[in-house]
Amino acid sequence: MDSGAAAARAAEKLCRRCKGSYDPSANTRLSCRFHPSLFVCRRHDDQKRYYELRDGDPPYAAKFYDCCGAEDPDAPGCTTDFHRSYDDAQAQDQ
Ligand SMILES: [Zn+2]
Ligand SMILES: [Zn+2]
Repeated sequence: MDSGAAAARAAEKLCRRCKGSYDPSANTRLSCRFHPSLFVCRRHDDQKRYYELRDGDPPYAAKFYDCCGAEDPDAPGCTTDFHRSYDDAQAQDQ
Protein backbone atom coordinates (compact mmCIF):
# COMPACT_ATOMS: atom_id res chain seq x y z
CA MET A 1 0.00 0.00 0.00
CA ASP A 2 2.58 2.51 1.06
CA SER A 3 5.27 1.07 -1.17
CA GLY A 4 3.84 2.69 -4.28
CA ALA A 5 3.76 6.14 -2.76
CA ALA A 6 7.23 5.70 -1.33
CA ALA A 7 8.63 4.76 -4.71
CA ALA A 8 7.01 7.79 -6.34
CA ARG A 9 8.47 10.03 -3.67
CA ALA A 10 11.92 8.56 -4.09
CA ALA A 11 11.82 9.31 -7.80
CA GLU A 12 11.21 12.96 -7.13
CA LYS A 13 14.07 15.29 -6.38
CA LEU A 14 14.16 18.58 -4.61
CA CYS A 15 15.40 21.53 -6.59
CA ARG A 16 17.84 23.63 -4.64
CA ARG A 17 17.16 26.64 -6.79
CA CYS A 18 13.37 26.95 -6.66
CA LYS A 19 12.99 24.68 -3.61
CA GLY A 20 10.36 22.68 -5.43
CA SER A 21 10.15 18.96 -5.96
CA TYR A 22 10.28 17.69 -9.49
CA ASP A 23 10.38 14.55 -11.56
CA PRO A 24 13.88 14.14 -13.04
CA SER A 25 12.45 12.36 -16.06
CA ALA A 26 10.37 15.43 -16.87
CA ASN A 27 13.06 18.00 -16.25
CA THR A 28 13.40 20.42 -19.15
CA ARG A 29 14.91 23.83 -19.74
CA LEU A 30 11.52 25.31 -18.94
CA SER A 31 10.89 23.37 -15.76
CA CYS A 32 12.60 25.60 -13.25
CA ARG A 33 11.56 29.22 -13.02
CA PHE A 34 13.88 31.41 -10.98
CA HIS A 35 15.81 34.66 -10.75
CA PRO A 36 19.47 34.39 -11.79
CA SER A 37 20.40 37.32 -9.58
CA LEU A 38 19.80 38.07 -5.94
CA PHE A 39 17.13 40.13 -4.32
CA VAL A 40 19.06 43.25 -3.50
CA CYS A 41 18.53 46.33 -1.44
CA ARG A 42 19.60 49.43 -3.31
CA ARG A 43 18.48 51.85 -5.93
CA HIS A 44 17.55 50.88 -9.38
CA ASP A 45 20.08 52.08 -11.87
CA ASP A 46 17.63 54.52 -13.34
CA GLN A 47 16.82 55.84 -9.85
CA LYS A 48 13.47 56.94 -11.15
CA ARG A 49 11.21 54.51 -9.42
CA TYR A 50 10.41 54.37 -5.76
CA TYR A 51 10.19 51.35 -3.56
CA GLU A 52 8.62 50.44 -0.34
CA LEU A 53 10.89 51.06 2.62
CA ARG A 54 10.71 49.13 5.82
CA ASP A 55 11.92 49.89 9.31
CA GLY A 56 15.69 49.76 9.46
CA ASP A 57 16.24 50.39 5.79
CA PRO A 58 18.62 53.15 4.86
CA PRO A 59 16.76 55.99 3.18
CA TYR A 60 18.10 55.08 -0.23
CA ALA A 61 17.26 51.41 0.05
CA ALA A 62 15.33 49.75 -2.70
CA LYS A 63 14.40 46.13 -2.87
CA PHE A 64 14.22 44.29 -6.12
CA TYR A 65 15.73 41.46 -8.09
CA ASP A 66 18.95 42.57 -9.68
CA CYS A 67 18.24 40.56 -12.82
CA CYS A 68 14.84 41.85 -13.87
CA GLY A 69 13.88 44.56 -11.42
CA ALA A 70 10.91 42.72 -9.93
CA GLU A 71 10.08 44.36 -6.62
CA ASP A 72 8.22 41.46 -5.09
CA PRO A 73 10.40 38.81 -3.42
CA ASP A 74 7.75 36.29 -4.42
CA ALA A 75 7.64 37.43 -8.03
CA PRO A 76 7.79 34.53 -10.47
CA GLY A 77 11.23 33.96 -11.90
CA CYS A 78 12.29 35.77 -15.03
CA THR A 79 14.38 32.87 -16.34
CA THR A 80 13.81 29.18 -16.82
CA ASP A 81 16.28 26.33 -16.85
CA PHE A 82 16.62 22.75 -15.73
CA HIS A 83 15.91 22.05 -12.10
CA ARG A 84 19.06 21.42 -10.12
CA SER A 85 18.91 18.91 -7.35
CA TYR A 86 21.05 18.86 -4.25
CA ASP A 87 22.67 15.77 -5.71
CA ASP A 88 24.05 17.67 -8.69
CA ALA A 89 27.58 19.00 -8.62
CA GLN A 90 27.95 22.05 -6.47
CA ALA A 91 30.23 23.57 -9.08
CA GLN A 92 27.24 24.09 -11.32
CA ASP A 93 25.87 26.62 -8.97
CA GLN A 94 27.02 30.16 -9.46
ZN1 LIG B 1 14.57 38.13 -12.14
ZN1 LIG C 1 13.76 24.29 -9.77
